[in-house]
Amino acid sequence: MNDFCVTFRGVRGSYPTPEKNKLKYGGNTACVEVKIGKQLIIIDAGTGIISLGDNLLREHLLSGSDEYSRKKINATILLSHTHQDHIQGLPFFNPIYIGSTNLDIFGSDNENNNLKNTLSLLTFDKMFPLTFDEMPADINIRNFHEKTFLSLDPDSDRLAEIKQITSDDIQNPDMIEIRCFKSYAHPKEGVLIFKISYKNKTLIYASDKESYIGGDKKLIQFCRNADVLIHDANYTKEDYLSATNPKQGFGHSTPDMAVKVAQMANVSKLYLFHIGPSYNDETVDEIEKQTKELFKNTQVAYEGLSVSLL
Ligand SMILES: [Zn+2]
Ligand SMILES: [Zn+2]
Repeated sequence: MNDFCVTFRGVRGSYPTPEKNKLKYGGNTACVEVKIGKQLIIIDAGTGIISLGDNLLREHLLSGSDEYSRKKINATILLSHTHQDHIQGLPFFNPIYIGSTNLDIFGSDNENNNLKNTLSLLTFDKMFPLTFDEMPADINIRNFHEKTFLSLDPDSDRLAEIKQITSDDIQNPDMIEIRCFKSYAHPKEGVLIFKISYKNKTLIYASDKESYIGGDKKLIQFCRNADVLIHDANYTKEDYLSATNPKQGFGHSTPDMAVKVAQMANVSKLYLFHIGPSYNDETVDEIEKQTKELFKNTQVAYEGLSVSLL
């Protein structure tokens, strides 16, 4: 039977934090690896994607003696949005420099620009030595929205088929289904929330999501009975409500907001994610301890943590 394995590659919000007192949880920005059978799904491309790329490259080089016999690297990359901390690892994802690599990148077009043009700004002119079009891999950049879902076969490494949604129910539990919805509670263009389902197990990725005090009703509906919820917890409650520098409207949550969603949606396990870059390990330990008192099945995600859903 295929596994449904989730590995946190980068859990930090906003910018990388390589300081020694932050390494227990890790300093790389947002990236989560999901492996189901032969499929590799990567959620967000913060700096956490770089070490994942190096691992993939190593496996690729060991799989054959020359470029014709080696196993191709195929991956589906889901981008929640195009803020720097979610895409800055992409030009350093080494499989992108191999001609046999196939990458399907799904994200959201925004009002003034399509996703491909937005991502091209990352490597535009003087910002990087190569443009996206000069990178050897076969890269397809496609718009993903809530009227469609992606269907992937766990028994092959064929890339996703895009299908129209006709009902809220999962169409085929033996296939991997990926759905999304766009939340506008993140400045300025909103953020995609992802749901990955396989064999009646469900993973939700809700980074850069401000879930309000009392819980975001649409998100609660979207993640009803999920097995794993990865939820933004960028600010402590004190910092969010600070009298001098409040963070309301910044598009991020507190651990309490994440707990509210988990409780109201009957989620089995909550992982706090997108940890604010100013918090050191000691503070994050305390955040975890306090949050467990509200919702026992809570853990702060840390770099290298692997979780199996099956
Ligand atoms: Zn972010
Ligand atoms: Zn953001």
